Amino acid sequence: MNTNKCRKCRAEKALSNEQIIEMVKQVTAMKGVKLAEQSEYERRIEICRLCEYFFAGSTCKLCGCVMQVRARLSDGKCPFPGKSKWAKK
Ligand code: SF4
Repeated sequence: MNTNKCRKCRAEKALSNEQIIEMVKQVTAMKGVKLAEQSEYERRIEICRLCEYFFAGSTCKLCGCVMQVRARLSDGKCPFPGKSKWAKK
């Protein structure tokens, strides 16, 4: 597998910080969205940063989601096969 591409969308370019911030703003402003605690968000993002499927500082190569968005959602899930890497031990 080419590890320089997102498996889902085939993107090769990293998103800019501005693009990520805008995505976070849009999703967190949506009606009915429940957010995770800040500490839980930070815990998840730290796990992603160490993961072999984390791409270009923002994207999970398994699901194609931007982790700065997905990790903020209270019901956000890690799609790692077998067992979520975000699961608490
Ligand atoms: S597989 Fe899980 S830990 Fe790895 S980048 Fe995707 S969401 Fe993050």
